[in-house]
Amino acid sequence: MNLILFGPPGAGKGTQAKKMVDLYGIPQISTGDILRANVREGTELGLAAKAYMDKGELVPDEVLIGIIKNRLKEPDCEKGFILDGYPRTKPQADALAALLDGINKPIDVVLNLEVPDEELVERISGRLMCNNCGASYHRTFNPPKKEGVCDTCGGELFQRADDREEAVQNRLNVYKKQTQPLIDYYAEKGILVTLEGTKDINEVFEDIKAVLTKFA
Ligand code: ADP
Ligand code: AMP
Repeated sequence: MNLILFGPPGAGKGTQAKKMVDLYGIPQISTGDILRANVREGTELGLAAKAYMDKGELVPDEVLIGIIKNRLKEPDCEKGFILDGYPRTKPQADALAALLDGINKPIDVVLNLEVPDEELVERISGRLMCNNCGASYHRTFNPPKKEGVCDTCGGELFQRADDREEAVQNRLNVYKKQTQPLIDYYAEKGILVTLEGTKDINEVFEDIKAVLTKFA
């Protein structure tokens, strides 16, 4: 099963991806997590990406295309994968299509999580993320069992620099301008399924499972 989890920042992609990994046994490929790991480790890639990320801008396409090319070659992607946060631009989508056509593994479905802006802002401003496994929590909507500690791996929870108010509006604008047009791109290919991302976490997951019965 080759999937794209699509939607604006804060729509719940990471939250649902983690549940899908557990159920379907295919990896989540979060380009945001990959970039954040590089920033943490101080790699050349991380140093180049940090300024864009802190401002809520997109990191240049050629960097992302390189990351995805390498990641999809890993053996754990053989049975499928869940792309989370990629593609975000038309050149990224075209590069992905070319790559997957070349290995005869097309995208089966694009799950588009729809959430209105006001709720996105509320979700992003309350988000806490695990510095070890990348799991997402929310101060109110999805709090960890123990304050500041990840339920799954015991990692430390932190607020992302780009989840502070200054960057959030810019990220939503960037999404509308550069990423949202891909909804039509995938709808034209006949592989887009739009889901109500405003339901609670488990209900959204039930809806996702219902769509994926065809592919699993
Ligand atoms: P994305 O990966 O799309 O940016 P996340 O999965 O990190 O989004 O979710 C953003 C925030 O919203 C997190 O704080 C998460 O706990 C919370 N969240 C995710 N899904 C829901 C939901 N269905 N209802 C309420 N809060 C949610
Ligand atoms: P995310 O964790 O998906 O919200 O991504 C956090 C930040 O990483 C984004 O605001 C961008 O700066 C960068 N990023 C992640 N994925 C991409 C991508 N596919 N293209 C460009 N920038 C990205």
